Amino acid sequence: MNSTFSLDDAIRKVPDFPKPGILFYDITGILVNPEAFRYCIDRMIELYKDARIDAIAAIESRGFVFAAPFAERMGIPLILIRKKGKLPGKTFSCKYALEYGTAEIEVHQADVKPGERILVMDDLIATGGTLNAAKSVLEQGGATVTGFFGVVGLPFLNYSKVLGDTPVQTLVEYDGE
Ligand code: AMP
Repeated sequence: MNSTFSLDDAIRKVPDFPKPGILFYDITGILVNPEAFRYCIDRMIELYKDARIDAIAAIESRGFVFAAPFAERMGIPLILIRKKGKLPGKTFSCKYALEYGTAEIEVHQADVKPGERILVMDDLIATGGTLNAAKSVLEQGGATVTGFFGVVGLPFLNYSKVLGDTPVQTLVEYDGE
């Protein structure tokens, strides 16, 4: 691995998006940079190659992009967690609070096996509310969430409080200003 490589350089920071006061960390800059994208997947494999995980679950939609090559290389199932109304089969679902209003996510019941140990990932962890809701839908199917992963972490938003004792890994973290 090239030691001068900086993942930070590949992440575009967009002030006041999607609304005033929010600094948006845009991971599309990673996806158009093959070295940066490969670095992320290699690091994920390094982190979890010896972990006891039976499947990875990923959050729509930027989580899918990182989880798919990871699942393929690890040889484990990829479970898609989607916004309400997108999955055709029977689902488990969870409503959760956003800064304004609520959101709801779902997973296919048939995709979750009781007793399975699942790593849950998204592109970025802010408050942790989305990952916590993902944990809830997987637990409704009898699975255990053994870890959370985000390419980017914003620990100043206190996601560790929401995510409890379940281990959290990120590749790059940013402080609030
Ligand atoms: P949260 O549930 O608060 O942890 O929010 C995580 C979800 O919202 C992820 O799917 C992120 O893609 C998105 N998100 C929240 N805050 C940001 C941010 N500052 N920059 C980019 N994406 C964000």
